[in-house]
Amino acid sequence: MNVWFLGTGTSQGIPIIGSTHPVCLSSDPKDKRLRVSVWISWPGHSFVIDCGPDFRQQMLTSGCTALDGILYTHEHSDHTAGLDDIRPFFFRQGNIPIYAHNRVINNLQKRFEYIFQEENKYPGAPSVNSNPVEAYKPFAIGNKTATAFTVLHGSLEIFGYRIDGFAYITDAKIIPDESLELIKEVDVLVVSALRIEPHENHFNLQEALDFIALVNPGRAYLTHISHMLGFHEEVQKILPENVFLAYDNLEITI
Ligand SMILES: [Zn+2]
Repeated sequence: MNVWFLGTGTSQGIPIIGSTHPVCLSSDPKDKRLRVSVWISWPGHSFVIDCGPDFRQQMLTSGCTALDGILYTHEHSDHTAGLDDIRPFFFRQGNIPIYAHNRVINNLQKRFEYIFQEENKYPGAPSVNSNPVEAYKPFAIGNKTATAFTVLHGSLEIFGYRIDGFAYITDAKIIPDESLELIKEVDVLVVSALRIEPHENHFNLQEALDFIALVNPGRAYLTHISHMLGFHEEVQKILPENVFLAYDNLEITI
């Protein structure tokens, strides 16, 4: 299985528009972060987790030419705002399957009413097939099985996903024990680490590292990164041996 980090930034993306923060002004490509998403593929299959406002650019950069479905972590705009840009995939393939918590599907139906509309649909609008997902109940994606698990983003219950030896968590603040059990000693763990200072709804770096120690994965990658975490090159130096800062267009094999 191949995992391509399409975006590794926090909600505004890095650089932030108009910001003069040194990280936003950095010329290191690893300090430029689109909104958070990964492309997961294996022979004959291709899925993304989340579909934020940078989706079109991410699909062009990664060279993704077919999409079997979108797995959503939650409804916030930085994870969902790119849904209209599934159009090229829809024109070639037909309805695109989406997998999400029922609450998230309802939210998308409100915000993208024209995509879910069944009668008098505007020609050219894309369509999706909605697949409600429940935490801890495995479901099929292609010839593999995915399992969603609960993660608390502040008080909001969102999903992390496990697919084979790969676990993906973003926007985490608290991880219930049941979810921890599901991903213990996974090969590759991706988990969010917003910044150095604590935040009400997100792991900071120390919380992410403490959680990684509990999971004890083969290796871990940090994502959903703010400019306030610091320069990629400097932060990477202080991380434990098997922990890496993810960056846009990093590709790993599991
Ligand atoms: Zn987010």
